Amino acid sequence: MSAGEARGSCHCGAVRFVARFPSRFVAHCHCASCRRAHGAAFVTWAGFPSAQVDVVEGRDALAAHESSAGTRRLFCGRCGTKLLFMSERWPGETHVALAAFDEPVDRPPTGHVFWDEHVPWLPPLAAPPE
Ligand SMILES: [Zn+2]
Ligand SMILES: [Zn+2]
Repeated sequence: MSAGEARGSCHCGAVRFVARFPSRFVAHCHCASCRRAHGAAFVTWAGFPSAQVDVVEGRDALAAHESSAGTRRLFCGRCGTKLLFMSERWPGETHVALAAFDEPVDRPPTGHVFWDEHVPWLPPLAAPPE
């Protein structure tokens, strides 16, 4: 373990990954696609250049779901944990689900994206968009 990276894993532990700093951003995504894919009000992503993210264990357990044309969501095929997101919209970038990290990343979430798609049932503790 070094301070220059953070490791993460799926719920069952079959898939393990490492992301090397610096990240490009950490943000809460409120888009309807993330919401449905993750079964959550919003998904917090840490974005990295793809070359800085490696699946170090369980590559064979990874499954992919093309949530829209050119967009792939990678998850553990054994336990279903959503882990990675890649899209032609952000070429060369891999978004990693912050909740899947076992160690802290190099920055806190700094904003909300697709706020116009946010659910009306978010509790008031959620910060307003920046
Ligand atoms: Zn798993
Ligand atoms: Zn999203």
